[in-house]
Amino acid sequence: MSFVPPGTGWPGDPATPDTPVALDPADVRRLAADSSTLAELTARQSVCRACPRLVEWREKVADEKRRAFADETYWGRPVPGWGDEHPRIVLVGLAPAAHGGNRTGRIFTGDRSGDWLFASLYRSGLAAQETSTHADDGQRLLGARVLASVRCAPPANKPTPSEKGACFPWMARELALVAPTVRVVVALGGYAWQAMWPALKDAGYELPRSRPPFRHGVEAEVRYAGAPVTLIGCYHPSQQNTFTGRVTAQMLDDVFTRARSLAV
Ligand code: SF4
Repeated sequence: MSFVPPGTGWPGDPATPDTPVALDPADVRRLAADSSTLAELTARQSVCRACPRLVEWREKVADEKRRAFADETYWGRPVPGWGDEHPRIVLVGLAPAAHGGNRTGRIFTGDRSGDWLFASLYRSGLAAQETSTHADDGQRLLGARVLASVRCAPPANKPTPSEKGACFPWMARELALVAPTVRVVVALGGYAWQAMWPALKDAGYELPRSRPPFRHGVEAEVRYAGAPVTLIGCYHPSQQNTFTGRVTAQMLDDVFTRARSLAV
C-alpha cells in the first residue's frame, strides 16, 4: 500500500473509511464548503485525490522512500491543517515536503525546515516541545495552527497553477472556520503571502485596498467581523534560506514573538 488507509490507527489520523473523497476540483469546492467543523474539514482534506499528478507523486515517494527512512511507513496522503482548534495565530506555508510531512502526516514535521520552525515556535512560547519528529511525539501547538496552501507534496516543491487552484478551497474554508479567534496570520515565504490574500477574502475578511509586497517582517492589517487581524511576512525557513543566512533563528524568533504579543 502506497499510503496509510484512513482509520487504520495512524496517530491523529482525522479520517475514517467513510470520509468522503474529493476526486476533482469541483468535489473539493463542495466538500470544503459544507464542512461545518475543523474535524470534518481536516478529515476530508486528508483523503483528497483531486490532483492526479500530485496523488501519483506523493504515493510514489511513499513507496520508494528515502534510504534513511526505508523502514518507516510513509503517510502518503494530503497533510491537513494541524494545531490549536481555536488558534489566535495561524501560520501558512506552501506545501508539505516529500520526506517530511508526506512521511509523517504532520505539516513541517520530519524535515529541516520544520526543525528550524518548531525550535523557534518553542522558544517563542507557541509550541510545547522543541522538535516535531513524528505523529505521536507529544508535540502540541499553543494557541497556533499551521496549514499549507497546497496539501500534497509536489515534485520539485512546485505545484502547478491548476493544483494551487484546486487546493484553494481547503485553505479558505479552514481560515473561515478558525476566523472567530484568529488575531495574527504569519505567511512563511512569498508564495504563502500571495496565496493568503484571496483565501482570506473568500473566508470573509475585509482586505485593505493596497497590499504591501512580501518581505521579512512586513505587516498589514485586515479585519474580520470588525476586529483587526495582523498579517506578518516571514522568510521561509527552507534549507536554502537557513544555509545562506537569509533567515536566522533570531529573525524567526522576532516574528513569532511579535505575533504572540499581538495575539494576546
Ligand atoms: S493538492 Fe490539495 S486539491 Fe490537490 S490532491 Fe492534494 S489535497 Fe487535493
